[in-house]
Amino acid sequence: MEPLDRATIWPYDENGEPRAFYYSRYASPTVVDAEARLGELDGGEALLFPSGSGATTALVLSLLQPGDTIALAAGAYFGTGVTFQALAKWGLDYVEFDQTGPPPDGVQLVWLEAPSNPFLTMPDLAAAVAHPAPVVVDSTVATPVHLRPLEHGADFALHSATKYLAGHDDALLGAVVGRNIDDLRTFRTRTGISPAPDPAWLLLRGLKTLELRVHRQTQTATDLAARLRTHPKVVEVRHPGIGGLLSFDVADGAAAHRVETSTRVVVNATSLGGVTSVMESRHRWEGDRVPTGLLRFSAGLEDAAALWADLAQALDTA
Ligand code: PLP
Repeated sequence: MEPLDRATIWPYDENGEPRAFYYSRYASPTVVDAEARLGELDGGEALLFPSGSGATTALVLSLLQPGDTIALAAGAYFGTGVTFQALAKWGLDYVEFDQTGPPPDGVQLVWLEAPSNPFLTMPDLAAAVAHPAPVVVDSTVATPVHLRPLEHGADFALHSATKYLAGHDDALLGAVVGRNIDDLRTFRTRTGISPAPDPAWLLLRGLKTLELRVHRQTQTATDLAARLRTHPKVVEVRHPGIGGLLSFDVADGAAAHRVETSTRVVVNATSLGGVTSVMESRHRWEGDRVPTGLLRFSAGLEDAAALWADLAQALDTA
């Protein structure tokens, strides 16, 4: 395993000149190791941030200026819109659009999500890259195992590395991968939105099993989505055929509450992408943006038959 270097400073060389590492807000060895590995996986240069939302904030602030507008995929991660709203008082605006078609004219940045969380739509990448504005793809849920956005012409891939990349629900971290991230690196150093070495080390560990985990989680989610589609208490199922995340609807909020609190293997908790299966009603966070009966399910590494038995007994309460 790569070493974990927690130092914040390193000595200058024998001539009194800074070496590659001198102060950890600029760069640190464990972070650089993790960035190199993620860059290889996504086919670009990677920069880590203290969280996915921190990555979003840094990228938007470094690319845009007051008066600019972002076209945000409708139904994308709720918190991304919340972050953009928090930036409104600095003159940044956003409009939502259906990412299965072309982005609207007159925007300075296009923000896609592959697949969107929790509606699980896939973006029309060809339509987006034909737009003159730079294109960001939040590929947290797809991971580089299923999608490498830069190969499709996107300018940046963004990850909440808290999810599949680190993969064990014990590291909060974000990442941006691009072809040229020098300006963003400078912006990160100057604004201090710099990552710590411990989560970067956990990311390095997580990346070693990423492919195995994501293939298994995709297989499990695909299997469960098919079973849910035939269940009489389930109104709608959303799963794009890739990734371990799915959502399904039961009749209403009361039924969703009974189902999410009745599982024994699946943990009733937020987030996604870890080795433990989790499920929650998203209405509690997102309000009327989602159906009251919508449950979001993230497949972990448990046995698929055991997960189905657990979901089936919980659905009996719906
Ligand atoms: N992007 C997506 C698709 C997410 O699901 C999340 C978190 O749930 C984020 C970004 C934000 O990441 P973080 O929680 O690491 O700030």
